[in-house]
Amino acid sequence: MRKFTDRKLLVATHNKGKLDEMRALLAPYGIEVVGAGEMNLPEPAETETTFVGNARIKAHAAAKATGLPALSDDSGIEVDALDGAPGVFTADWAETPNGRDFVRAMTRTWAECEAKSAPLPRTARFRSTLVLAWPDGHDEVFEGKAEGQLVWPMRGQQGHGYDPMFQPEGHDITFAEMDPAKKNEISHRADAFRKLITCFEV
Ligand code: IMP
Repeated sequence: MRKFTDRKLLVATHNKGKLDEMRALLAPYGIEVVGAGEMNLPEPAETETTFVGNARIKAHAAAKATGLPALSDDSGIEVDALDGAPGVFTADWAETPNGRDFVRAMTRTWAECEAKSAPLPRTARFRSTLVLAWPDGHDEVFEGKAEGQLVWPMRGQQGHGYDPMFQPEGHDITFAEMDPAKKNEISHRADAFRKLITCFEV
């Protein structure tokens, strides 16, 4: 595995919730983090059908555009009763002509489970695939997940995306009710980050 020896890392996301989490997760390593939005980079189209494929598109586009190593995250939620949907289409379920609406996305997710009379608990998992890409085209891939179940109605104000309807295994509160530091210990992204940091250790 190639080691990361630079001091500056571009985080290839325009999603503020993800950027904040990734900054907090990277803070202990003394790495300067720059967001793609702060560099005015365009958002590439995510045309692949897998998390790793889309994560590669984002990381390589950002590394090529800036000459910096770039870290991307492609993530989503898989609901067992929906055969893994929304999966790579997690963000798409929130798209509206006026921007992303996650209340609408969560409402649809629960409604599709109801339409199938899916039994409780409605098990689901978040997945996070991180790709660290260098400007010379090399990359490394790290995958993480967090198991849990969907709950309805939504609960909590913290976090982002589908957090208010996801209750992680072993807890009776949702990600959106959880202290962000706690979420950062047990989330899918934290799981992938634990693998990523082996790249930082010389
Ligand atoms: P991406 O930007 O294509 O990777 O889309 C990921 C989607 O999954 C977005 O809609 C996110 O809101 C959702 N998602 C990813 N991670 C989380 C999380 O930690 N909590 C809630 N939603 C998440």
